[in-house]
Amino acid sequence: MDKRADKQTGWSEKLKEMPVEEVGRLIEAATLDRQLFGELAEAADAVRQQYYQNRVFARGLIEFTSYCRNDCLYCGLRRVNATAERYRLGREAIVAACREGYQLGYRSFVLQGGEDGYYTTRRLTAIIDTIKGEFPDCALTLSLGERSRADYAEFRRAGADRYLLRHETASPGLYARLHPDMSWDNRRRCLDDLRQLGYQVGAGFMVGLPGQTCSDLAADVEFIRRLQPEMVGIGPFIPHRGTPLAGQPAGGLGQTLVMVAVVRLVLPKSLLPATTAVGTIAGDGRERAVMAGANVVMPNLTPLAERKKYMLYDGKICVNDSASHCRGCIEGRLKRVGFVLDLQRGDHCDWRRERAAG
Ligand code: SF4
Repeated sequence: MDKRADKQTGWSEKLKEMPVEEVGRLIEAATLDRQLFGELAEAADAVRQQYYQNRVFARGLIEFTSYCRNDCLYCGLRRVNATAERYRLGREAIVAACREGYQLGYRSFVLQGGEDGYYTTRRLTAIIDTIKGEFPDCALTLSLGERSRADYAEFRRAGADRYLLRHETASPGLYARLHPDMSWDNRRRCLDDLRQLGYQVGAGFMVGLPGQTCSDLAADVEFIRRLQPEMVGIGPFIPHRGTPLAGQPAGGLGQTLVMVAVVRLVLPKSLLPATTAVGTIAGDGRERAVMAGANVVMPNLTPLAERKKYMLYDGKICVNDSASHCRGCIEGRLKRVGFVLDLQRGDHCDWRRERAAG
């Protein structure tokens, strides 16, 4: 192994074992020191290349409800935000969005929404059934928040392949301050259930939350090391004007990229989105996230009439762009930095092998 490759593998090995206090110090140092960040990003890029080469998987995102029963302090869709515009998509509209995505070449869809009681287990199972019946060659990810284990089992039986449930922050105190009426223990229970039910599991967290420290971010890394999720969504905190956190500074691009690189090194085979939020705080944020180790993008398939109503935070990009525009835009952006948009299912590399073996 040459010296450069040795250094790259070295970071990955070190980070898998590094005591959590040291991880916190590394995050702090890399946020301030561009050279150290450059070293981590280069190592992250190298390990990603090893498993996924220069391919970046596309997931067509359908935001199907802006109703939510929760009151997360940072979120524009929180229940008490009277200025939020609410909508729900019915089964036909959701399937039509998938159809448009399929015609654009996507073979992976994400159904995302607030925690909306209107979507009962029966309604959701019928939607999953219809999507998997019409598009059996596509992967389906759900991102519907906290449900019972029995619900998760039903959705899995109906054909859902993956589930995204960001843990948001693994520091119980910070979690409690940001999520009135929710519990960190239940969040963890959900992730454990999803894992046991055979989903490809996505966790994830925000960077730059008010009051968050590098020790909190190190706790996120520790949580990820233990859970070993297949996917990790990492995005900067961005304030929304209709929330109690309005006026707080957004998370920084630099620290968000540090966290993408660190998580890539900790979980070399993971699927890491270059999130819309990182593209919102910087025009080239998604490209830079990919260069720091991300390998997933989520172009929007939500009908344009509803897109602006799914305002999790202020200034969200892509709310006026058609689905075909989004596809071309993201493909061009990736190409300019040497990456290729891959439209296939894009499973975690180990999961695919196990499935093939089974
Ligand atoms: S973050 Fe999710 S659960 Fe929390 S209020 Fe927003 S949509 Fe609801």
